[in-house]
Formats: sequence, structure tokens, C-alpha cells
Amino acid sequence: MKYFDLKAQYKRLSDPVNERIQVVLNHGQFVLGPEVLELERALANRVCVKHCIAVSSGTDALLMVLMALGIKAGDEVITSPFTFFSTAEMIALLGARPVFVDIDRQTYNINSELLESAITSRTKLILPVSLFGQCADYDTINEIAQRHHLPVLEDGAQSFGAFYKNRPSCGLTDIAATSFFPSKPLGCYGEGGALFTNSDELEKLLREIRSHGEIARNHHVRLGINGRLDSLQAAILLAKLEIFDDEVVARGKVAKRYSELIREAFKNVEPDLRVTPPFVEPHNTSVYGQYTIEVASRESVRPAMEAHEIPTAIHYAQPLHLQPVFSYLGKHQGAYPAAENAATRVMSLPMHPYVSEKQQTQVVDALKDAVFTT
Ligand SMILES: *Cc1c(COP(=O)(O)O)cnc(C)c1O
Repeated sequence: MKYFDLKAQYKRLSDPVNERIQVVLNHGQFVLGPEVLELERALANRVCVKHCIAVSSGTDALLMVLMALGIKAGDEVITSPFTFFSTAEMIALLGARPVFVDIDRQTYNINSELLESAITSRTKLILPVSLFGQCADYDTINEIAQRHHLPVLEDGAQSFGAFYKNRPSCGLTDIAATSFFPSKPLGCYGEGGALFTNSDELEKLLREIRSHGEIARNHHVRLGINGRLDSLQAAILLAKLEIFDDEVVARGKVAKRYSELIREAFKNVEPDLRVTPPFVEPHNTSVYGQYTIEVASRESVRPAMEAHEIPTAIHYAQPLHLQPVFSYLGKHQGAYPAAENAATRVMSLPMHPYVSEKQQTQVVDALKDAVFTT
């Protein structure tokens, strides 16, 4: 069994993907070709925002927003300590300070009740993450941000396709970033990402930054990066977009069945044998970027599942404030208890739209065996 199976998807999509790729090979505009513009329009429509800017990765997407907002040394950006590294990495890369706010224990997203107390006169941006496929509490976050005149950037790298109160992820904040890394809910066959905003001003800045701050040949008005998406990746994404809604439904079905099997298998057990399926807020839908459960004895459960040839993954074993590179922030064990607790207990199960019912039964049987015998 595979943790993540791109081959099953390719089997279904090989004709349209191959045709789309052939078109690019024929026209030869490999960077920012017509497919990129077509993709930008399709994605902007999907999330109901005015502008989509397709870029080279989710990490570069975050970096470019921070550059566009002029984030620099001495500034503070509020984010989650429980996320993929690059969320905080890009803040620090520009010399600014990541200021962490602890997470909600059930959703793993930033705890909006703790948000306001982290705002200082140096705060320049709030950067919540929509982790594992469900959105953070954006109504509350936006309301706090507006009161403090701060922009909000959603890191929607794991949540593209999800809905918050019937509104799409990446269309909820001043600006949003997503990733098309192959293992994300909407993935390409290499590196890619996108930015979303209704602001004409930000769009213009971001398009400039995406191409070295160049506005006409050899005329650079600011510093930028090489942040462009290539046409082959856009072509692949356009083909995948045709079946994306269907795949989101399939992911939801896989998740629902996992949760039912887990509840059944672990009902009435003692606390230290408990296995907790993911919690999705009633006002949210999740695209299950990861299907992440909590177990008490992860260190013994994982190898036992591996013995049954069931792959698992940990997202994330170490909260960001405890990463060696962020030791200078002076946040020690105990600083963000919910994030630290999650980091010791979370474990992700194989998740993609093509996990079969039989495979799911195998996974949960192996989990049962691992929990009850170790
Ligand atoms: C994957 C991911 C990123 C980075 O995206 P890349 O395309 O891999 O650079 C950023 N934030 C989160 C939460 C992610 O999951």
C-alpha cells in the first residue's frame, strides 16, 4: 500500500494530461505560456476572487506576498507554530520575526481567541494556516485584523477546494496562497503554487515580483524573484481540474469511512488506547490534505503498522518554535502547549481519492492490532 498514490490518478487522467502536454510541446512557450493564463482564470473563478497569479511553488507564493507587503527586519508576522516549515521560514528569511499563536486542540488551526493578545505595534501581517484541509476561523481572524488595520494571508497550501461557511478557501482573506506540490489535494507533476487577491494593487506588485521586478524588457522597478509557473505544470493542472470536484468528494468519502471504522474499533476503550479521528467544524468542509488521527502510543504504533506494510506519516513531529533554527526566538517547551501536545500524538493515514474500501479496512485492522498489542 502507498501513503499517497499518484499512479491511480494518472491512470484515470492519462489521455487528457498527455494531450495537454503535447500542446505545450508543440507551441514551445514553456514559461508563462497560454496555459498559465487559462489556469489563472479558471482558479480565480473557482474561488470567486478577481485575480489569481500562478507561481513557482507554495513557498515562493508566501515569500512574494511578504515581499509585496514590504515585510522586513524588525517586523512581526503572526502565524501558527504547528504547520509546514516554510510558513515561518519565509517570514524569517526576510529578517522579520515569526510570532506564534498556539493552536486549537481539535482543528490544529490557530486559536483565534489567543490571536489579539499577540498583536504589537510591530505586527505587520496575520498568516493563519488552513491545516490538513480545513480553514481556520477566518470571520474572527478578519474581524480582529480589521480592527488593527492588518492584512490577512491565508496559507491554503493544504486546503484548496475546501469551504468555510460556504465560501471557498483562498477567497476568504486579503490574499491567499496555495501549493500544487504533487501530494497536495490539487497537485501538479513538479513544483507550483498560486496567489489569490481582489486587490488590483497587490496583483500588479505580485506580477512584477514574480519576474524580477521587471515591468518592461530590462527595466526593473523593484527586487523580485524568479517565481513563474511553467506551462507544462499549468497544462497538467488544467487537466486535473476537470476531475478535481469529483476527487474532493472521493477524499471526503474515504475520510468519512475511516472515521466510522475508527470509532467502531475504539469505542469504550481506556483513555490511553483511544484513537481520535479528525474533527471538522460543522461550518467547514475539509479536503483532507492529510487524514490525521491522534494516538497516545505513536512510537510503538507506527512500527507495528509498518510491519503490516501500512505506511503512515507524521505532520508534524516538532512544532516550529522548537526547531533548532528558531531557538533564537527564545520559545521553549511549554510555550505553546496545544501545538506541543499535537506534535507528540498526531499520525496521518494513507489518503488520496483512490484508497479502496478494502485498503481502508486493512489500515484500520492494522491500527487496531498495533494499538491493542503494543
Ligand atoms: C506544502 C506547504 C507549503 C509549501 O508549498 P511548496 O509548494 O511545497 O513550496 C506551505 N505551507 C503549507 C501549510 C504546506 O503544506
